[in-house]
Amino acid sequence: MKALLKKGKGSDGISLERIEEPIVKANQIKVEIYAAGICGTDIHIIHDKYPSILPVVMGHEYSGIIVEVGEEVENFQVGDRVVSLTATITCGKCSYCNQGLSMLCDQRKSIGSGVHGAFAEYMVVPAKLVYKIPENITLDEAILTEPLACAVRCIMERGCVNAGDFVLISGPGTIGMLALQVAKANGGNVVVVGTSEDSDRLGLALELGAMAVVNIEEENAEKRLMAITQNKGFDVAIECAGVSLSVNNCISLLRKQGMLIQMGLFGDEIKFDSDLAIMKEINLTNGFATEPTSLERALRLLEFRHVDVSPLISNKVPIEDWKKAIHLAEQKVGYKTLIFPNVQNMFFYS
Ligand SMILES: [Zn+2]
Ligand SMILES: [Zn+2]
Repeated sequence: MKALLKKGKGSDGISLERIEEPIVKANQIKVEIYAAGICGTDIHIIHDKYPSILPVVMGHEYSGIIVEVGEEVENFQVGDRVVSLTATITCGKCSYCNQGLSMLCDQRKSIGSGVHGAFAEYMVVPAKLVYKIPENITLDEAILTEPLACAVRCIMERGCVNAGDFVLISGPGTIGMLALQVAKANGGNVVVVGTSEDSDRLGLALELGAMAVVNIEEENAEKRLMAITQNKGFDVAIECAGVSLSVNNCISLLRKQGMLIQMGLFGDEIKFDSDLAIMKEINLTNGFATEPTSLERALRLLEFRHVDVSPLISNKVPIEDWKKAIHLAEQKVGYKTLIFPNVQNMFFYS
């Protein structure tokens, strides 16, 4: 089968290869990948800024159709449309595993970094990590379940938005647009900030329910933002850009004892004004990918239309054009870029 493999350092270490189709074990299912999204984490993996065990097929945001079930698997059958959690290998007995916190297990290996992922025609996954896609959700939309679950994890499980809170979203990319909708679904008054390059994105933020959008580079941006909060400062700031300037903006715009939720990965060490955060008693939190609780909630947010991910699907590229796909993602052209390992799926479903 065709698979996009990372075999060595940097972008030169990536190549499209033919590898053996995976063989399904008793407790696994085998999925034909419909398509898989390129995530900021994939870009970090390409540039060796996020740990991976080589060689590995990248890709962890996907939807697919079951083509085979292992003999011990119940509740799933061939033809089911599915998504899954990403922490494929865990020890199953440490204190984190016992609490259902699979991402925190020391033995964890995840799809697309530690074990073969979804930029391939087929993938096998333990059935216990798999979820059926609700009928009213398209396979395209379902690909965004995983990043949406990351937003749920950060904002609802690790952080907290209460109804009426003023919520600042810094960085109007895919994650920012998901964070906006999750914060809004929790009753937040959401304001999205971006730069001059983000004018289209800020327009979409308004369509998706932001109460206001502000170009942070414009004169008096800080004054205008503070005025929106009746000069009290934001209750919650969600950093989605992964840029140190953006972290500092969040800290200065938060009210005292406000909450900073770090969603963006920086890919490097960063500088931020920790002393100011201390003097304001800022609560700093974050989240590491998804757990079962957040994935289940993400599916429900999609099913009952609290979140609309369809405007975030921008580019559909066959796996043969993987270089173009990575370029689109790196240049941040639109929002999500999807890679189609099975090219016929680009036309058969939607
Ligand atoms: Zn991701
Ligand atoms: Zn464990």
